Amino acid sequence: MKFDTTVVRAGIKPDPTTGAIVPPIYQTATYVLDEVGKDKGFDYTRSSNPTRAVLEANLAAIEGGKYGSCFASGMASVDTCMKLLSAGDHVVCSDDVYGGVSRHFNRVLANYGMSFTYVDTAQPETVRQAIRPETKMLWIETPSNPLLKVTDVEAMAAIAREHDLIFGVDSTFATPVYLRPLELGADIVMHSTTKYLSGHNQMIGGALITNREDLNDKFKFIQKTIGAVPSPFDCWLNLLGLKTLHLRMARHSENGQAVAEFLEAHDKIDRVIYPGLPSHPQHAVAKAQMSGFAGMLSFELKGGLDAGKTVMNNVRLCGLAESLGAVETMITHPASMTHVEVPVEERRARGLSDGLVRLSVGIEDVEDIIADLEQALEKA
Ligand code: PLP
Repeated sequence: MKFDTTVVRAGIKPDPTTGAIVPPIYQTATYVLDEVGKDKGFDYTRSSNPTRAVLEANLAAIEGGKYGSCFASGMASVDTCMKLLSAGDHVVCSDDVYGGVSRHFNRVLANYGMSFTYVDTAQPETVRQAIRPETKMLWIETPSNPLLKVTDVEAMAAIAREHDLIFGVDSTFATPVYLRPLELGADIVMHSTTKYLSGHNQMIGGALITNREDLNDKFKFIQKTIGAVPSPFDCWLNLLGLKTLHLRMARHSENGQAVAEFLEAHDKIDRVIYPGLPSHPQHAVAKAQMSGFAGMLSFELKGGLDAGKTVMNNVRLCGLAESLGAVETMITHPASMTHVEVPVEERRARGLSDGLVRLSVGIEDVEDIIADLEQALEKA
């Protein structure tokens, strides 16, 4: 199957009992056994569920992996990866990650004896220097949230192999439409399915995809043991959202590029960060490893924080909201919203200024998005 067909059809068969073309929502906690020791493949929904199984198969195929596991949130899937490790283990992590990820690492997992070093993974040498004898995992986000830093996935895979590290990629911003981390050597691809993979702001979810049977066995064990699983209804919503992934992403990219170019040319804008712009510091790497750049961008105004706030408070079409990757354009202030719990010194060190504005460009008519930004910029 070609990619677009995989998106629409992979792992999805007419329901065996009724022929329903859309996989039913198997909203059940448990399953009646035929006899002791004989079930129909399902025994308890924390362990497995038919609607979830279809979603996991569909997501694995779209990402080009053998195995998929779904979770109740992107954070639950990050947590599951970290549960592969033990007290005393060390992780090297991209310095620019979603604020919830570093909050989990620093304020929860650090209490269990794990340690984390944050480095600019766009610089492979800094990654090598951060590796210690107790390092067990390399965790990257590319493009990163919110600075859109792009990390060379193949270069990281080579370092991970050299040092026998598990290599995980949070590919939420790129999606399998534009980045293929498993083909570039990653062990694990993680997604917040809350974003592009469901695409309509309709649910919270997460997924892990891998080709490694040993890792998949552990993910399934952690999934059923801890139970941070998505509801059958959320799995069903995710499946419906996924069907148009390739079409939505094409429009997100087209609109993202146009909005980035508009902002870059605007006299009130200081800088725009979008991997599809030649001015992006890792544009060459992005072009080499991605086939498109999606709809996420960040920008700063010459007037700094006050001007940024004026824009965010005056948009009408763009929603001032905390999420990203959905059909509606959303504007966010990372310093006070998504990354508020990253300590100020840390935010400054990674280049995340208080004036940074993040935009998730949706699939509306791009002229309307630009007109909305233009009228808000006039007030700044
Ligand atoms: N990874 C990235 C890159 C994110 O942007 C987010 C959320 O914004 C997460 C992980 C966490 O996902 P969730 O909100 O679904 O738990």
